[in-house]
Amino acid sequence: MVSHPAAPRPGGRRRAPRHAGGAGSGPRLGVLALQGDFAAHAAVLKRIGAQPEEIRHAADLSALDALIIPGGESTTLINLMRDEPWFELLRRFHRRGGALFGTCAGAILLARRIHGRSQASLGLLDATIERNAYGRQIDSFERHVDAPSLGTPLLAAFIRAPRFRAVGPDVEVLGRCDGEPVLVRQQRIVAATFHPELTGDDRLHRFFVKLAEGGCDADLPEWQARAAGGGPGLRF
Ligand code: GLN
Repeated sequence: MVSHPAAPRPGGRRRAPRHAGGAGSGPRLGVLALQGDFAAHAAVLKRIGAQPEEIRHAADLSALDALIIPGGESTTLINLMRDEPWFELLRRFHRRGGALFGTCAGAILLARRIHGRSQASLGLLDATIERNAYGRQIDSFERHVDAPSLGTPLLAAFIRAPRFRAVGPDVEVLGRCDGEPVLVRQQRIVAATFHPELTGDDRLHRFFVKLAEGGCDADLPEWQARAAGGGPGLRF
């Protein structure tokens, strides 16, 4: 895979990678807190020793290295985002190397195409996603996701979940459920069609913090080496 050099920050500065370990020294993590399941994500991050900030204003993105966009309702989220230049500043955040993790509605927001609808999205993840693809709320379910790089299968909650219909060539499928991709990564973007914050398994959040720790130069060499059957692999 092509390495992913640091994008210059607006103003020409490059961000030095930050590393975990003590107040103020870890990656600056935020959870988008406009709508949806942000509190549960923040709770998982705290449980694993991070100090997330709940982000309610687009201008606050400039102080972060990584952001979780939680599940909820993508149309509601988009409406709430109209009050501030969220789209512009989220795209800028991504360009300067910020890591993004979208879960469920968050994955919909990240995707480039929404199947069968013209719905606004950030378009940062080269994927086509279909909303509510398993049916209604009552068709929500818990299922194990096969994600070999994380170790044993991950219990995941699918709540009015979307489905990836197609992913681009630079998108790695990290997890599948019944053979279908449900967890993907494109460089510093991770997207899951399920809610990893609800089932008590924090491996995916640990993975994301690791990604954020690498700063904007990270290309997850251990991760790739492991996928190729080489190097030591990521430890959680
Ligand atoms: N059905 C929601 C949507 O289309 C997503 C559901 C969720 O985030 N749990 O936005």
